[in-house]
Amino acid sequence: MGAFTVRKKPSYVRGLLRDLSPNKQLERIVDDGMCIGCGICESVAGADQVTMQIAEDGSLVPHAKTTIDDTLIDQILGLCPGTKVEGLPERLVQPDSQYDEVWGIWRQMHLAYAGDEQTRFRSSTGGLLTALAQFLIDSGEVNFILHAREDETIPAFGQNTVSRSKEEVASAAGSRYGPTPTLKNIVGVLDQCEATGETFAFIGTPCDISGLRNLAQQDARVDQYCVYQLAMVCGGFMKPSGLSNVMNEHGVNADEITSLRYRGYGCPGPTRIETRSAEIIELDYLDFWGEDDSGWDLPHRCKICPDGIGDATDIAAADSWDGGAPDRQGQHSDPGSNSVIVRTLAGERLLAAAVKAGFIQIESSITPRDMDRFQPHQVKKKQAVWSRFVGMRAANSVVPDVRGLRLKPLARRNSIAENLAQARGAKKRAKQLLRD
Ligand SMILES: Cc1cc2nc3c(=O)[nH]c(=O)nc-3n(C[C@H](O)[C@H](O)[C@H](O)COP(=O)(O)OP(=O)(O)OC[C@H]3O[C@@H](n4cnc5c(N)ncnc54)[C@H](O)[C@@H]3O)c2cc1C
Repeated sequence: MGAFTVRKKPSYVRGLLRDLSPNKQLERIVDDGMCIGCGICESVAGADQVTMQIAEDGSLVPHAKTTIDDTLIDQILGLCPGTKVEGLPERLVQPDSQYDEVWGIWRQMHLAYAGDEQTRFRSSTGGLLTALAQFLIDSGEVNFILHAREDETIPAFGQNTVSRSKEEVASAAGSRYGPTPTLKNIVGVLDQCEATGETFAFIGTPCDISGLRNLAQQDARVDQYCVYQLAMVCGGFMKPSGLSNVMNEHGVNADEITSLRYRGYGCPGPTRIETRSAEIIELDYLDFWGEDDSGWDLPHRCKICPDGIGDATDIAAADSWDGGAPDRQGQHSDPGSNSVIVRTLAGERLLAAAVKAGFIQIESSITPRDMDRFQPHQVKKKQAVWSRFVGMRAANSVVPDVRGLRLKPLARRNSIAENLAQARGAKKRAKQLLRD
């Protein structure tokens, strides 16, 4: 195992915001583009103090309904994935865990897919996350899964959901590429577990996992009742304005959408849109997102994400296309295999048990260099983020406090010119945000 040291640093965010009132501090997280819309702030504050609301630009952000106090904002700054992101907790790193500068702590890497054909077909990639969740319910190891499904009122969004049966888990399969507040009721879920003794597994984005790991530092019930933390590798979600633009190009008004399945039913499967006029539109993945990723209109926070790879998860699941995207032919014929990073002993035990019970099929073992091939955009971003943070700090922007994510050594892989260009670009974008 290579060198892996975590040094404690004074909080940049708290220093930057210290002269602002608690309400203004919350606003700055949003104004500086650091809010990801996970909803953890609403959950800890209570909806009478902070609620997630749709902003003018269509994004989902917190709104303070009262004058919030210093204690609450302090708690939020310590929880928010926009202000604090850390790698795998040291207590979960074993002496025989492996370390890669890009991909972090890992114990196993595989190509794998759901043993059940329908699960593999309907899920986002190979159904690994759905199959693990179904195994956990079927084996009785957990009582429920906290994850996300299509939002009932805004179909482009996701909403948090609790699944207690294999069928419920299956019905939430697929990727939600719109705003998704998976942690909006996490404190309520923990209260319920405390009362009943139930345990659960969590599936979310790496940002959600950051929020959950941050909460575990304040609330011991997270580690007591949430026995697995699973995530997809995440390149960022689609801004509602980006979705409107893509839909306009295809002659659909985004307000008319009544159902939206981004992926699944094949790998990646078509994006399927139903409208109020009962029209059904199916777009190939490459037509929806653009051949050159031009459809990926990412929120600012996603562009500067220090952890899209699920550094702090038990297991992270991703796609496995060479070069990071399917080709025209492959997008119709790929049965779907996840690339899988197992990071913890718990994750290792879970995967082995799910394989033994037939819920998961392992195709082959892979290495961090295979992950580089499958996720070139993640490698590029991980190497760019340190310089982007330098630029954002120069613009006086909120930048998350990070630990254990290897950003500085990764930046050293770039030339000085590349790092300067990243810093300048980020500074310009951050200044623009502060002006808007
Ligand atoms: C916003 C976003 C960005 C992504 N970017 C990448 C990328 O850069 N590289 C890559 O390889 N893969 C990316 N994916 C992941 C990929 O689409 C698959 O989700 C992943 O490979 C897992 O596949 P699966 O078949 O195991 O998932 P499934 O078996 O379909 O299960 C997906 C699970 O994730 C939950 N879920 C879906 N969307 C969300 C959400 N927004 N928030 C919380 N929970 C959710 C569902 O409830 C379900 O339990 C992204 C996914 C999302 C949602």
